[in-house]
Amino acid sequence: MGKDLRFLVVEDHAFQRSMMVEMLESLGVQSIHEAADGFSALEVTRELEQPFDIIVTDIDMPGMDGMAFIRRLGEAKVRASLIITSGLDKSLLGTMVTMIGAYGMRLLGTVEKPPTPERFAELITTHWQSRPAPAKTKQGPSTFSLEQVMEGLHAEQFEPYYQPKIDLRTRRVKGAEALARWHHPHAGVVLPYAFISLLEDADQISELTWIMLAKSAKDCRNWRDAGLDLNVSVNLSVKLLDDPAIADAITWQVTQQGLEPKHVILEITESAAMTSVGHVLENLIRLRMKGFGLSIDDYGTGYSSMQQLTRIPFTELKIDQSFVLHAARQESSRMILESSLEMARKLGITSVAEGAESAEDWNLLRDCGCDLAQGFFVARPMRAASFPEWVRTWA
Ligand code: C2E
Ligand code: MG
Ligand code: MG
Repeated sequence: MGKDLRFLVVEDHAFQRSMMVEMLESLGVQSIHEAADGFSALEVTRELEQPFDIIVTDIDMPGMDGMAFIRRLGEAKVRASLIITSGLDKSLLGTMVTMIGAYGMRLLGTVEKPPTPERFAELITTHWQSRPAPAKTKQGPSTFSLEQVMEGLHAEQFEPYYQPKIDLRTRRVKGAEALARWHHPHAGVVLPYAFISLLEDADQISELTWIMLAKSAKDCRNWRDAGLDLNVSVNLSVKLLDDPAIADAITWQVTQQGLEPKHVILEITESAAMTSVGHVLENLIRLRMKGFGLSIDDYGTGYSSMQQLTRIPFTELKIDQSFVLHAARQESSRMILESSLEMARKLGITSVAEGAESAEDWNLLRDCGCDLAQGFFVARPMRAASFPEWVRTWA
């Protein structure tokens, strides 16, 4: 299982070190380097041309301790997965996960002494399963040009698809997130990564936003008229929030379709929301005062502090799917999930998990006390016309 992985084992006790090396060899690992302390370990990482995949390190070492070693790895832009060979207190584990994440690496988990081959096997499996997903906007360059996208917008080829948000306790459908889809005449249904950043970079995202807001407000109004008590979530690019007139324009788009702002949740990504730009904050406050719900999207990817979170009047915290996807099997993801839920509880806002793909994910989220979830396990985003029928069948 570990045949093609490159390991570095850092441990000051010679006996412990050779025991771990033997264990890894018994799992089929062929490339293992050893170091007795942080200094020589850093030297090895500098000298070798190919990077390590997994670094196994003790925390309690003479000279440079594990913490300093990890920091130096981060500074050297090492991107390995880490395994820590010391039992860590639960309260420290969470901080450790965040710290390692901040240095651009990830913690696969800890191995208590004496280590066992089974535990190493488990963590190697985690390494394979949890290799970071490509960032959403970086799934390769778009095959479309800005002109093509703009043409499509003007030809009304864009529409929202809806993905239900489900109450984990009552199993009721609470609403839906509107996700932009381009019905391209030749290419079929085109996903957002092919056009969102293109539009944002050219300062043209507002065109799409108006279409999404107007159509989702209209659809939501129709659902509500048909007796379905649902709200709708729309993604907002932070680029828009720089314009001091935007809050009024958004309100106008929504009320124009006969929908009240309190039935609309605006989602802003965590990295964008943690701004101190006056205009943006002003807009967020104004939108909240108009009655819109405000959601922090992709939470957990932006390292915001509790203090930053309290500064903005959010009503919902949406945990990024990367933590949900691996929570059932990866200790570090579960820690982030649990601490995010704790954060939402402290702030008194609704928690939403995105990317629940299996029954296992679903049950874990429910048991951890998450409020709402969305994900392929229940439904993929669907066209507006199919949504009310889907809601009735689900009930
Ligand atoms: P997001 O707001 O975080 O939306 C969630 C994404 O996760 C959606 O991808 C959805 O289809 C996907 N997803 C839902 N359930 C699952 C699951 O169980 N497993 C997995 N692997 N994925 C799941 P999509 O539709 O490709 O959208 C990507 C991103 O594009 C969105 O991320 C959002 O940031 C952006 N986006 C979409 N529509 C708009 C829009 O109208 N305006 C703006 N500014 N951004 C938008
Ligand atoms: Mg979203
Ligand atoms: Mg998200």
